[in-house]
Amino acid sequence: MRPWVFIRGVPAMKFLPPEGPPEIAFAGRSNVGKSSLINALVGKKGLARTSNTPGRTQELNYFVPDGYSGGEDDLPPMALIDMPGYGYASAPKDKVDAWTKLVFDYLKGRVTLKRVYVLIDARHGIKANDEEVLSLLDKAAVSYQIVLTKTDKIKEAGLPRLIANTLERIRKRPAAYPAVLATSSEKGGGLDELRAAIAQAANG
Ligand code: GDP
Repeated sequence: MRPWVFIRGVPAMKFLPPEGPPEIAFAGRSNVGKSSLINALVGKKGLARTSNTPGRTQELNYFVPDGYSGGEDDLPPMALIDMPGYGYASAPKDKVDAWTKLVFDYLKGRVTLKRVYVLIDARHGIKANDEEVLSLLDKAAVSYQIVLTKTDKIKEAGLPRLIANTLERIRKRPAAYPAVLATSSEKGGGLDELRAAIAQAANG
């Protein structure tokens, strides 16, 4: 597998690369462990920036395996898109509005977007601002799947119930994939299952 590289940050729709390979996107509250998970998935530390500081640039960050020209005859098997984190307590309204516009435009307008993985901290579960994002995904009719993060921080015995509760929360949501994945970037748990799910979503 070629190493993954960052190709561009997209602050508005007009900066999107031409539609090509299937796209898989990742969304989650700030600090949910999104950068850590993307880095763990592709086996490259520092690809997506890991940081605790909220309010980083509001861009869709595009990653592809290295070495593709982007030409029609040489497309990567898929692109991974790191969506800007949401849910900063102190975020001003105009920033939240800009986030919603960028994300919703992308969700609605991108035919090659195959699935969004919505990351939920296993310690906190689905919060009100996660619900808002799930509603946005349902409205845009984009397939999404919930991924629990940092499961090494909770008791293993509690995991089945957490998964069942999370499934119950999304049961009536039209665009939700009816399975919840449990991961730990720190310990590597669930990463193979997530890789398999991504490959299936990208090729489906
Ligand atoms: P992001 O803001 O969603 O990109 O979150 P980061 O990937 O920067 O992670 C936020 C914090 O959670 C960092 O201190 C990480 O070290 C920590 N973290 C991320 N994933 C895990 C995990 O699987 N287990 C544990 N214990 N900590 C994690």
